[in-house]
Amino acid sequence: MVLDKKEPFVVQGRLFTPLDQREVDEHLYYDDGFLVVGVDGRILSVGPKLPEEYAQNQVHRTRHLIAPGFVDAHVHYPQLPVMASYGTSLLEWLDRYTFPEETRYGDRSYAGSRATKFLKLSLERGVTSAAIFSTIHDVALEALQASNHDLGLNLVSGITGMDRGAPDSLSVDIVAFKDINEKAIETSRGLERFSYAITPRFALSCSEEMLDYCGQLLESDQSLLMQTHINETEDEILATSALFPRASDYLDVYASFGLLGSRSLFAHGIHNTETEYDRWAESGASVIHCPTSNTFLGSGLFDADGYVSRGINVGLGSDVGGGFSLNPFVTMAEAYKVAKLRGKVLDPLRLMYWHTLGGAKAIHQHDSIGSLEPGKYADFCLIDITSDEVGSELWERAATVREKLFSLMFFMPDSKNRVVATFTDGALRWQDEIQSDL
Ligand SMILES: [Zn+2]
Repeated sequence: MVLDKKEPFVVQGRLFTPLDQREVDEHLYYDDGFLVVGVDGRILSVGPKLPEEYAQNQVHRTRHLIAPGFVDAHVHYPQLPVMASYGTSLLEWLDRYTFPEETRYGDRSYAGSRATKFLKLSLERGVTSAAIFSTIHDVALEALQASNHDLGLNLVSGITGMDRGAPDSLSVDIVAFKDINEKAIETSRGLERFSYAITPRFALSCSEEMLDYCGQLLESDQSLLMQTHINETEDEILATSALFPRASDYLDVYASFGLLGSRSLFAHGIHNTETEYDRWAESGASVIHCPTSNTFLGSGLFDADGYVSRGINVGLGSDVGGGFSLNPFVTMAEAYKVAKLRGKVLDPLRLMYWHTLGGAKAIHQHDSIGSLEPGKYADFCLIDITSDEVGSELWERAATVREKLFSLMFFMPDSKNRVVATFTDGALRWQDEIQSDL
């Protein structure tokens, strides 16, 4: 089928979407639903019936599940080549694998080729929005933005701030950082579907002067987001406390420089104290849970209850390359396993919410993305539930939507990608030529 963007078009089939209601398990599911996409790339209608006014429009019936695109709310695009590096913990892994690779992103053409690959792989897995760490280099961010021009994802990113605790090739003094950062903010303003995030890598790689500058910038411009890491491993926490002896805890380091607020995204947050949880809740900041990274690096087991019980917004991130997969279903399955190891059960509807609307809330875009609702961007994917014999049977046997989604998270036939087509702005950005029925 050739999708005609001069007229609204309709996709008909099984349809699932979380809803942004008070309870995270609120959702819509139709065995035979209709998604109507307008010429402006926004959703016109979602429901069990096709409204009369669109009866003459092009209808594509799919055997796949129609679902909102996923939000990868924490990922490092320069780390794709260091994914699955053997046998280390966080700080050693950074020194041995990550920093040498990130150094290469000062080369614009290398960064461009890696950015394109990264964004395509994300689209192929149904990711339509991502909060991305780049590197210290302005050309690395430019390369990401240029590569996305034709691929059409919704991105959040910024220059990664580091002025200590890193090789000289990845450190920049504060004067140069201000210059690079402010130029990058200006050039980012005109870009469609791009939001700038101030990105101090983590406290260990930033001087007090750099954190102070980041905090002032966040305060002065309400359009900016802030993303960083916190409480990922015990070693990191000890080193942070030695470097910032006046801070009462890790969160206090960021808070004391004005970096704790509702536009802040903190990845990991595994080893929080009770005081940190409470202060976090008051601030309105989001946590981005990165379970594949946490199990791979042996960082610890995220305590979902610590956040959920306090009403803290949670998103999910692949954290590639600490994480070992860009696939949202792998991330959700790993989050489920982490919870089980703590003796808890995570509802698949909650996991879907975290990976869509939770991420959308973290980047302050839940009014325009994260679910299939009229007025929002038509960012969606088609998920194969029929081509594999076992997977298809699991889907059909599952009695509830909750159980059906759970089977999708855990049944990955031989590592096969289950997403077969991805749309952003109502435009087809990628499809599996064999399995897609478009
Ligand atoms: Zn990370």
